[in-house]
Amino acid sequence: MQTPVPDYLKHVLSQCQRNVGGQLADYIPELAQADPNKLALALSTADGMIYSSGDDGHEFTIQSMSKPFAYALVLEQLGIEEVLQKVGVEPSGEAFNQISLDKELNIPKNPMINSGAITTHSLIQTTAGISRAEQLRRFLSELAGRELSFDEQVYTSEMKTAFRNLSIGYMLRTVGALDTDPVEIVNGYIQQCAIKVTVKDLANIARVLANGGLHPKTGECLLDRAVVRQVLSVMLSCGMYDAAGDWLTTVGIPAKSGVSGGIIGVLPGQVGIAVFSPRVDEHGNSVRGIDIFERLSADMGLHLMEGTPSAQTIIQSCYWAGKNDDVRVYELRGVLQFTESEMLLRNLQEEPPGDTTIVLDLTNLTLIHDVGARMLFEGVERLQQDGHRVVVVDSEGILSEAQMKGNKRVVVKEKLTKYLEKFQ
Ligand code: GLU
Repeated sequence: MQTPVPDYLKHVLSQCQRNVGGQLADYIPELAQADPNKLALALSTADGMIYSSGDDGHEFTIQSMSKPFAYALVLEQLGIEEVLQKVGVEPSGEAFNQISLDKELNIPKNPMINSGAITTHSLIQTTAGISRAEQLRRFLSELAGRELSFDEQVYTSEMKTAFRNLSIGYMLRTVGALDTDPVEIVNGYIQQCAIKVTVKDLANIARVLANGGLHPKTGECLLDRAVVRQVLSVMLSCGMYDAAGDWLTTVGIPAKSGVSGGIIGVLPGQVGIAVFSPRVDEHGNSVRGIDIFERLSADMGLHLMEGTPSAQTIIQSCYWAGKNDDVRVYELRGVLQFTESEMLLRNLQEEPPGDTTIVLDLTNLTLIHDVGARMLFEGVERLQQDGHRVVVVDSEGILSEAQMKGNKRVVVKEKLTKYLEKFQ
């Protein structure tokens, strides 16, 4: 049997190929030379699988899709609070290259418009001899899993016509948002935009965000969880230029587009999506890219606001065991977050006080959030106060050391069936 996912992606591309709306971006002369017919799509899962279709080996410049990652890098380097002093998180509702600042704070409104991205670029910490753009290239290469390079032609072409970005740089220097040479910073920012990627690279990068900052294969922590949350939040509210509200309602996936025709999207815990088609609309977003995202979101139920009600299914089964039928077993499944823990504890509340043994089996859980672990052990303590002996079976080791802290004596690592033999 072959999974139908690749066929589905091919089908989506063939449907969207007919859409020839939009124009090649020409304010960067080199981008106007792009082949308008190129079309590619890649989808990655949070556990690391990558599917791709169309011109998936074609390289294009990352342009504004570099902005969330420059932001991620400086958040990692300086911490969220310090970065917030320099760049805000409010949607601007203005064009990406508007020469504007937050009127009250005198800082750029967010890191996804050029004023915010240029300021963010200036915050990248480097060691002597390494430029900020190079530092970001290395960081993106690590996320993409291959060595990325700069497109010198696109860089030179944009530098020749970078009057607006230079104006933004000078304006930022005037108000003190930049404390170094604005020409050097704008130059570095334009180099950052000229890093070459394929849709597969973008899908590789996206899967790290979808997986909470951990490399899906090695488990290595590449980005702090709080940084991932910050970046995705800003992508959601500000990632699609002045069409962010339209995008949020129709597609509902945190995303960032670039004028080269790419869009990168991340649905936390689920998928990363990257598309490429160079014709863009009046906001600078890829026309076919939007079309593809709209179809994927609708067909695969990916809209962020369509939460799945998993709480009702947290208890897989509940039964009596032991020679005298005096051991109460709760087998749990799925993900234990707040709503599932609340449902579990509400069920446990029905247990009458007494000295029965209660076994909570975590074997079929796929994930326990910290709040889930806290509520679980709070429930254990309350059951103990009612006179019960309580055992948590964690044969797959899903609880982290930190989550178990102080509760290790109630956790057993044996298989459930093995543990229950004691009562026969
Ligand atoms: N390098 C481009 C600029 O700053 C990027 C714009 C974009 O992709 O939206 O003008």
